[in-house]
Amino acid sequence: MTTTTAVPTTAVVDVPLELPSGRRAGAGTAGLGAVDMARSSELLARMRVGEIGSVHSWELVTAVDGPGTRLTVFMAGCPLRCLYCHNPDTWKMRDGKAVEFDALMGRIARYRGVFSATGGGLTISGGEPLQQPAFVGRVLAAAKQLGIHTTIDTSGFLGASCTDEMLDNLDLVLLDVKSGDPDTYRKVTGQRLQPTLDFGRRLSERGVETWIRFVLVPGLTDDVANVEKVVEYAASLSSVTRVEVLPFHQMGTDKWESLGIRYELADTEPPSPELVERVRGQFRARGLTVY
Ligand code: SF4
Repeated sequence: MTTTTAVPTTAVVDVPLELPSGRRAGAGTAGLGAVDMARSSELLARMRVGEIGSVHSWELVTAVDGPGTRLTVFMAGCPLRCLYCHNPDTWKMRDGKAVEFDALMGRIARYRGVFSATGGGLTISGGEPLQQPAFVGRVLAAAKQLGIHTTIDTSGFLGASCTDEMLDNLDLVLLDVKSGDPDTYRKVTGQRLQPTLDFGRRLSERGVETWIRFVLVPGLTDDVANVEKVVEYAASLSSVTRVEVLPFHQMGTDKWESLGIRYELADTEPPSPELVERVRGQFRARGLTVY
């Protein structure tokens, strides 16, 4: 995900995800329902078919992560290592909670009234939702059957894992384009830009509404030419209805420290209002709706 909001600590369940490290998932917990697995191989098999997901947390939000009031579910696990990540505690799937599909759907269904009253819905974020395509695909399909507006917040790096059926069950994709220049993208995320571009193109061709998100970091992503490449790309996709320029801020610093990971942006200041306006102006100049 790209949001500049730190994810909450409210866990969906309080049972550790059991992986081959030998940690055992418990049972009888509060929250959504625990997964009691005798062997980690069984857990992994159930994860592969989407019966269980590794979830970091969830949050009920308004005016972020899509329209209306939304239940945002943060999946655990991400292949990127963004220098400005506010949620490095979502990076590893094994640090998530093992959540049964039925338990999560029960919680989602509980908010149907709120969703319909506010024009909201479900957003699956992370981490990276496409790192668990079987589970996320099932949740999206089930939510659609309940008439719930569905969204994922993704970097698109794992877009090849997103099936056409998943796309058909998505009303909106928040596509995080972290840079327009491949070298800058690698510097920011540690990964290649091309898979993101390919995924966005696919969204456009399939007519899936897309909001482009771009995190503005002074000295890292703010170069005029770099921004212009994102502008050109966004303008070339017919499915893009909105661009969100998200000013960098330092909210996640303490998480990096507590995890013992070196935080390279410790001395980076948030962008000035003038810089934010310049970048938003670049998008507006191409006729894009910008926030
Ligand atoms: S590292 Fe992953 S979770 Fe963090 S900002 Fe990047 S894509 Fe989002």
